[in-house]
Amino acid sequence: MKTGEICFGDVRAEAGKKAEGYAPVLDTGYRMPITVINGAHEGPTVLITSGVHGGEYPGIQTAIELSRELDPQKIHGQIVLIHPINLHAFYQRVSYCVPEDGKNINRVFPGKPDGTLAEQIAYVVSEQFQARADYHLDLHGGDLHEQLPSYVYYPNVEDPYVVNRSREIADMLEATFQVKTKNFGGAVGSAGLRHHIPALLIERGGRGLWSREEVEDYKANIRNVLRFLQVCEGEAVRPEKQAITVVDDATLAASRSSAWYPCVSLGDAVKEGQQIGELRDLFGNVLETIRAPFDGLVIYMVVSLAVAEGDPLITIGMI
Ligand SMILES: [Zn+2]
Repeated sequence: MKTGEICFGDVRAEAGKKAEGYAPVLDTGYRMPITVINGAHEGPTVLITSGVHGGEYPGIQTAIELSRELDPQKIHGQIVLIHPINLHAFYQRVSYCVPEDGKNINRVFPGKPDGTLAEQIAYVVSEQFQARADYHLDLHGGDLHEQLPSYVYYPNVEDPYVVNRSREIADMLEATFQVKTKNFGGAVGSAGLRHHIPALLIERGGRGLWSREEVEDYKANIRNVLRFLQVCEGEAVRPEKQAITVVDDATLAASRSSAWYPCVSLGDAVKEGQQIGELRDLFGNVLETIRAPFDGLVIYMVVSLAVAEGDPLITIGMI
């Protein structure tokens, strides 16, 4: 049996205990709700984050429920959950960004202590949480206006331990697609590059919806990973159906603020040059025809009528 206390943010937990509270972001007055589970037994530290994007509800609800359900007496190691990171976006139903500065936290890692709020949040997650973790699971989903299949991303870094171990963990999750990501401004890419820890970004659900079934599936998958890491007791089970590896992808963005009319559906196979959607002005005139850049599958779509200049519209994945 383990002894001793651990502390993250303002939350202290004795060995074999769980505690909830907040992690302040420097001196901004902003604070993130966290649960610290200090297992009764020795083992690694797993960071589970959610709500980097405030409208991704299945991941946020999964983190909230796991915080309540995981029993510290049966945990081998430490589990720290943040639920959610982007609290103001959650309450205000703002997609992608931190409302105060309009920045996407998942583009500004490892953040800056003297930056804007999104950068300060990223800095605290990076230096006070990732730096002390052995593994990081970052729970996402499609945002309020996004539709996507289940995904798992892991860092595309040079460190073979990070890549191989992340891949092993990814293989324990049910997902339609697996992608190695070079988004080092994202939490997971940065965890691999800066802190040399295996890390996964998991995507489930979208369009501002969440259901009991999705959350139960999400929790079952995370519990399976925790068993694989031997942090939870029991045998991990490898999913029967393995994820498809996306070898390359292209995300097409809106050239101007306009209305968006896709003419394909998620999962459709498309051919190079095929029309996949149109941008129109608010009089209904076609401004631009969007075409597939290569043969592939539609693996991400924006489903809102409104798009702002520079927003992603659709992603074609090469399989
Ligand atoms: Zn997200």
